[in-house]
Amino acid sequence: MSVETNKETLGFQTEVQQLLDLMIHSLYSNKEIFLRELISNASDAADKLRFEALTDDSLFEDDPDLKIRVEYNKEQKTITVLDNGIGMSREEIIDNLGTIAKSGTRQFFESLTGDQNKDSQLIGQFGVGFYSSFIVAEKLEVTSRRAGLSREEGVRWISEGKNDYSLETVDRPKRGTKIVLHLRDEAEEFLNGHRLRAIINKYSDHISIPIVMDKEGEDEKGEETVNSATALWKRSKKDIKDEEYDEFYKHVGHDFEAPLAHVHNKVEGKLEYTSLLYIPARAPFDLWDREKRHGIKLYVRRVFVMDDAEQLMPAYLRFVKGIVDSDDLPLNISREILQRNRTIDSIRSGCTRKVLDLLADMALKDAEKYAVFWKEFGRVLKEGVIEVTDKQEDLARLFRFASTYDDKEEQAVSLEDYVARMPEGQKAIYYITADSFSTAKNSPHLEIFRDKGIEVLLLSDPIDEWLTTHLNEFDGKPLSSVNKGELDLDGNEGESEDEDKKKEGEKLEKEYQDIVKRIKEILDEKVKDVRITDRLTTSPACLVADEHDMGRHLEQILAASGQSMPGSKPILEINPKHLILRRLKDEQDEDRFRDWSNIIFDQALLSEGGKLDDPAAFVHRLNDMFVELSTEKQAD
Ligand code: ADP
Repeated sequence: MSVETNKETLGFQTEVQQLLDLMIHSLYSNKEIFLRELISNASDAADKLRFEALTDDSLFEDDPDLKIRVEYNKEQKTITVLDNGIGMSREEIIDNLGTIAKSGTRQFFESLTGDQNKDSQLIGQFGVGFYSSFIVAEKLEVTSRRAGLSREEGVRWISEGKNDYSLETVDRPKRGTKIVLHLRDEAEEFLNGHRLRAIINKYSDHISIPIVMDKEGEDEKGEETVNSATALWKRSKKDIKDEEYDEFYKHVGHDFEAPLAHVHNKVEGKLEYTSLLYIPARAPFDLWDREKRHGIKLYVRRVFVMDDAEQLMPAYLRFVKGIVDSDDLPLNISREILQRNRTIDSIRSGCTRKVLDLLADMALKDAEKYAVFWKEFGRVLKEGVIEVTDKQEDLARLFRFASTYDDKEEQAVSLEDYVARMPEGQKAIYYITADSFSTAKNSPHLEIFRDKGIEVLLLSDPIDEWLTTHLNEFDGKPLSSVNKGELDLDGNEGESEDEDKKKEGEKLEKEYQDIVKRIKEILDEKVKDVRITDRLTTSPACLVADEHDMGRHLEQILAASGQSMPGSKPILEINPKHLILRRLKDEQDEDRFRDWSNIIFDQALLSEGGKLDDPAAFVHRLNDMFVELSTEKQAD
């Protein structure tokens, strides 16, 4: 390491190497986006400088006109992208260009399969950024100086995108970053003014500061601005093409794929602001990360003031990306002030409304697109009914569920569909919760409903337990769990059956009085009560929660997450028409009766996805039964 330049060679973080390989492979047919990514970063750097300069004007030095310059040199086979934005210090270069600091990086690498073709599809989800330059460049040279540092504190970073990069201190009179790409032979097509201008127009027209290039005509001299250089959101909606909206999204959202939908809105009057909000097409890896950054950038009178302004969107809409530009907030607003600012509250509620309307509209007009949205973000949207109380009905209308209507795993049934199909006299919207779709679909609790042709919603997302404790009704109809409380489907059927059923019920009740009592004594530790039921047709028994107890599935979730439970015991309901129960009625052998009771209980627990306290005992009992049965058969 020499003293003057502090030159050193550093290794990339392992993941960087992996990412580079993958990127070069997957973006090979779309090389030109490297320029978009570099310009996007340069524009962010300009935003950051303008923001920091709000409190320290001297950062502008003698160079206040922010812009991005693109050059090319045919002889040297280089393309240069230059900005006079915030720049980077030595530490920042190491952090930003030697490692991947993105949240979700670990999950991303875990999700890679090793098969490059498959993995290529994933790169878009991860976002590409600076490293995409290596698709066209065999060597990159980044020279930067952070605003506010002296000219002797410039840094030069050089890498061939292999295992390492070199770093040295250089004299750098100008603030900002200069990136020189030494092109690979196959990328020489980019050494062409027309081509570069076309790429800038295609992807970066929306960048709000000028992107300049040298004029190229005969005897023309000086620079010209290539893009429109106005903030896209300030332009009139009718003048903005869908592609322009999409490209702007890729810039603000750091995304590779086009968004599903956008809503652009200008509010005038007492409060003035513009919002341009997007629904991404794919959930990011860190959607469930509590530390996750939110996607809204805040501008005040076109000056960028904050990334990830979480106050601008409720948490259940944290996947929304875009910008809000306010005319009313002070430029020096801090995160703390944002938290208790009435203007912000109004903007948030306005933006929330816009997003919910956008989704409702999508659901109505483009079910296919909405299905994509729901698959990616449905579980987040469901948090809404838990988080807020004033939008229950609006949110519930947007929800989609699996249902016994078609028994498909895809969540496509809306509560409106369900209600529209409800036969006259049905009192409630029925649902079942379980830890997987197949447990829900095959639950014994559904037997009677299938028998009677009553639709049941099949809920198996972990959040559904909380959802159903908060969403109690829809369209005036209560939501009712099929595995909780006594089942009363009577009102759902014709009146004439009532009398006969009642009589039959009373008869069975009497007949089974004794055995119910005996089972209850045996299972006393495990159950709160034992009763006969008519909800089962093919299973011998099932477990239900008492009306006011916590749902069985919620208990399992809490127990699994290590939270100690107050231990409300389930109720065992037995099917008096089932052969096992009919036989059990005549069972004289006390030990056998005990074994059967336990097996029935354990089975019921298993069929709802529960965990047995003592699985070995269950297997043991079952084997004993088999042996006995087969010996009996042989004796016959
Ligand atoms: P992303 O832009 O998605 O964060 P990148 O890999 O493109 O990821 O860039 C990594 C980081 O490097 C940026 O977040 C930024 O902090 C820094 N950076 C990149 N280009 C510039 C630039 N031209 N000026 C200042 N900082 C930059």
